[in-house]
Amino acid sequence: MILNARDKITRCLLSLARTSLLYSPYFRFHLPWPSQILIENTNCCNARCVMCPRDTLSRKSGFMEFALFEKIMKELAGASRKPVVHLHGFGEPLLDHLLSERIKLAKACGILQTYIVTNASLLFPETARSLILAGLDAMKISFYGTDEESYNATMRQLEFTVALQNIKDFLRIRKDLQRPGPRLILQYLPQESNGAKTAEFQSLWRSLPDKRKDDCLNISSLDNFGGGKSYHKVGEKIVSVCFYPWSALSVLWDGRAVTCCIDYNGIQGVGDLNVQSIREVWNGPVMSALRRDFGKLDYSRFPTCRRCDWVHRR
Ligand code: SF4
Ligand code: SF4
Repeated sequence: MILNARDKITRCLLSLARTSLLYSPYFRFHLPWPSQILIENTNCCNARCVMCPRDTLSRKSGFMEFALFEKIMKELAGASRKPVVHLHGFGEPLLDHLLSERIKLAKACGILQTYIVTNASLLFPETARSLILAGLDAMKISFYGTDEESYNATMRQLEFTVALQNIKDFLRIRKDLQRPGPRLILQYLPQESNGAKTAEFQSLWRSLPDKRKDDCLNISSLDNFGGGKSYHKVGEKIVSVCFYPWSALSVLWDGRAVTCCIDYNGIQGVGDLNVQSIREVWNGPVMSALRRDFGKLDYSRFPTCRRCDWVHRR
């Protein structure tokens, strides 16, 4: 059977896969390594986007120590199956002057896929060149406007013209350098402040991304961020198993591991990579207990999860 995310049968199968019916008997089983590891190089940001709950960020801001990053990468170098390494978190990754060095190290440690999500405001030609040469594999750019007015009203503190020019320069430099990557994903988030002009966004970018490199446009949707925002009504009833703890591990800039990137205040800790290894955290008792609870749809110990969109819909 060919699975297509748009057809009814696939959607039905996927929703079944998220029910406790399927997870509960098998919650003990998981892969020996996460398939994705999200490493927050910084939680500082130069923007104040309207849909981002940064105004409720209560933990300290900072940048991950390079020595800690090195420790994480050295452990991943020995992984039988290397996870995708995300180098971003609840902040703007390009504020980190060591980002290219981190990517180079990840690649030297055998990581096949490195990935960042950026607002592109600081993706100036020199930075673009250095990221491409470091070997970055994929980059998502959040670009939430179709003109100066809608962009500046949504991605507050940033400039439409600067980000637009940076993206055009990046595409030109990537072509000149004749490197295979990074693949570009340009994302739009329709909402009130930008007039939800999806068709205009698609036409603005139609000719720019390079399809031979698998570049694409992506239309996203608003999220409650575990209660940081309230775009969608979430009731009391929890209906879905969140498969995050079976697939990914999120690490904050200070080394603490948390349930996922939605937990932007870091209140659902699962370990500390300053003193533990990834395998100790991933295969340890805290994650096991969490998987058992998630598998039974018991989120009583997880306040962020209880307010998260994902577990309230199939
Ligand atoms: S760029 Fe990202 S982290 Fe920064 S304010 Fe916007 S959504 Fe939040
Ligand atoms: S339910 Fe939401 S907040 Fe909880 S782990 Fe899953 S994605 Fe994160």
